[in-house]
Amino acid sequence: MSQDKSHQSDTGLDVLISGGSMGGLFTGIALARSGHRPTVYEQSAGALESRGGGIVAQQNIRRFLSEHDIVDPADITTRSRERRFLTENGDIERAVSETMVFTSWDALYRQLRDAFPDEQYRTDTEVVAVEPEAATVTTDDGTDRTGDVVVAAEGGQSTTRAQLHSDVKPEFASYVAWRGVVDEADLPTVCAEAFDGTFTFYQGADQLILAYFIPGPDGETERGSRRLNWVWYDTLNGRDRDAIFTDTSGTEQRFSVPPGELRDPVRHRQRERAGTLPPVFETLVSETPDLFVQAIYDLTVPTMIAGRVCLLGDGAFVARPHTAAGTAKAAGDSTALADALSSHGSVEDALAEWDQTRTEYGTTLVARGKQMGDVRLNLN
Ligand SMILES: Cc1cc2nc3c(=O)[nH]c(=O)nc-3n(C[C@H](O)[C@H](O)[C@H](O)COP(=O)(O)OP(=O)(O)OC[C@H]3O[C@@H](n4cnc5c(N)ncnc54)[C@H](O)[C@@H]3O)c2cc1C
Repeated sequence: MSQDKSHQSDTGLDVLISGGSMGGLFTGIALARSGHRPTVYEQSAGALESRGGGIVAQQNIRRFLSEHDIVDPADITTRSRERRFLTENGDIERAVSETMVFTSWDALYRQLRDAFPDEQYRTDTEVVAVEPEAATVTTDDGTDRTGDVVVAAEGGQSTTRAQLHSDVKPEFASYVAWRGVVDEADLPTVCAEAFDGTFTFYQGADQLILAYFIPGPDGETERGSRRLNWVWYDTLNGRDRDAIFTDTSGTEQRFSVPPGELRDPVRHRQRERAGTLPPVFETLVSETPDLFVQAIYDLTVPTMIAGRVCLLGDGAFVARPHTAAGTAKAAGDSTALADALSSHGSVEDALAEWDQTRTEYGTTLVARGKQMGDVRLNLN
């Protein structure tokens, strides 16, 4: 086994970050800006491929982009001015004035990735073990690397979390989210216009669908070049969960089947079920080239630190998407970590304070997501 020992200079800390998606990049950028030396290890070989979905661009995400001079948030976001609820036959049941700001996962990822130096972003490198007290990570090439702090931003299936909290398991919420994205230009005009400027919902007996515009594939925000993103929460309706999550290669996925990998019978059955939706949503689903699905689950850890290892983003807490807070939470964890390290003389004190505030936040958010989802899907 080779040993690559990082050297601490007079100022700043060597921070080893496992995971180079949103949480890893927010952390790398925030820590570099505070004078630390982050290195990201990402197991994927190339650029991460979007699952194609939308993200609510909460205020702290937009602030992160502006304060770190990454991009003017207006350049990669779309806005709605009204939250609108439809009846089953498509009439407007209720409308509430409210401005919401949206972006796409791919547009945000691209901006964050471009803002982080390639030399400090190692792809095709999986962290296979951590040594919490020594702040050491072992990567899949057999190298041990020691820093001052390790951040595991490994998402909902984090192996570092499994190493540190073997008793913590994601809990399936008994419903799923079908999702899709369609180019505005490919939709009938009347359908695109029905959703323009609104955050539109339909609540059925055991289903909930919503849609909003997000930027186009290259971040375009002008009308005509955007995409319409929808999320359709649905109970299993007697269907077998394993059958839904078995992809085209016959592999049983645990939590999501990405675009292009849903088996035909599964896709057809869900498209047929779109007949129970208001007509504009039915059109939207039928015009979507590729559906994908993710299981809704809850995940909570009792503490986000172990020695000098921090669990961050979805690696620590997964709140249901009704909270629209997954990416914003990752941004919040990251900036709070940078602030804690700047305001405490000792790393231990900084991590303890960070753990207390962010564990409290994550726990509350997961509880709120459970409550929102169970009420909306009539699961109580
Ligand atoms: C490719 C991809 C596409 C996504 N698309 C969407 C979307 O369209 N809409 C949406 O709302 N959310 C999407 N998400 C989820 C969203 O990014 C997260 O819910 C949220 O932003 C929190 O991010 P995270 O960095 O904590 O976790 P994640 O985004 O899940 O990222 C975890 C990262 O860690 C890497 N990783 C895991 N284990 C290891 C290891 N041991 N060693 C090295 N690397 C490791 C993974 O490859 C991944 O890149 C996507 C996630 C990914 C990975």
